[in-house]
Amino acid sequence: MRPPTPTGTGTSKRHGLAPRSRRSPSCPVQQVLERLSSLRQHQQDGRRSPHEPLLVLLALGRLATTGTSALPWSEAESQLADLLQEFGPTSKTGRAQSAAYPFTRLRSDGVWTLDRDVPMDTVSPLREGVTGRLEASLEAALRDRPELLSQAARGLVESHFLGTVAPDVLVAVGTDPDLLEGRSVSGSPDQRRRSGTWPAAVIAAWDRQCAFCGFDGAAGGAVVGIEAAHVRSFKLGGPDDLDNGLALCSLHHKLFDRGMLGLDDDLAVVVSQRFSARTPQGRTVYDLARPTAATGHSPAGRAARAWHREQVFQGMALAS
Ligand SMILES: [Zn+2]
Repeated sequence: MRPPTPTGTGTSKRHGLAPRSRRSPSCPVQQVLERLSSLRQHQQDGRRSPHEPLLVLLALGRLATTGTSALPWSEAESQLADLLQEFGPTSKTGRAQSAAYPFTRLRSDGVWTLDRDVPMDTVSPLREGVTGRLEASLEAALRDRPELLSQAARGLVESHFLGTVAPDVLVAVGTDPDLLEGRSVSGSPDQRRRSGTWPAAVIAAWDRQCAFCGFDGAAGGAVVGIEAAHVRSFKLGGPDDLDNGLALCSLHHKLFDRGMLGLDDDLAVVVSQRFSARTPQGRTVYDLARPTAATGHSPAGRAARAWHREQVFQGMALAS
């Protein structure tokens, strides 16, 4: 894969995480949030670049639990690689190299420092014993204000990960997923507005049943456990169009957004070889590898399916 492009090059438009309480630029709280929010613009042409946000989230999690964001490369090498593998797009780049990109490049944003001057993107000097940490004044501000740390973590996770996945990311970096409760996942103020009618239209187009398994639960007259899922994420440019939507039960929505399930060129469901389950119930997921259960409605468009396969689906599909 292409290495992530450094951010903070001056081309990104900055905006605060808390627009309604925007204060003068000299306000330290606002400064801290704006420095972190500059990472939020790091999405280009719908390609996911969660490397730097994941490193910042990992550092925020350490700061919250240990009181310091200091992260030796000896630990980051595996922890960050695990996070990238679990929550990033599939990549052919080696694990250590994938982790070295954000670990060295995040310095350009002014929010991350290394205790030794090492070249960008190179793994071997890092193995000589390098420790990274959030820039000192930033770390001090976040340590003094736990609510600021929470706000920063929430802003980052909401702008870079799907709503169904964000809690899992927070758990993985050691932060409380309840951070997300009681707050809409609408994201930044200049984000496109979602269509209020799109979810119901998608669910109706799929005859109120999960496109993968046919689940059609209802509570009275309303569906329950069935959701409208974007094939190409709305946050990354996917439109609120019928052919960018699937009605999915909550479980299969989750597995689709986590890249365990996908759709092939013939609209058949594919299961990632990374998926595993022990019980017969868990293993029913393997049975989904077949043409979509509900048919004849609004098949997901080819471009949206290709985007999901490239950016979300994990690894190879199991042979069905
Ligand atoms: Zn289902």
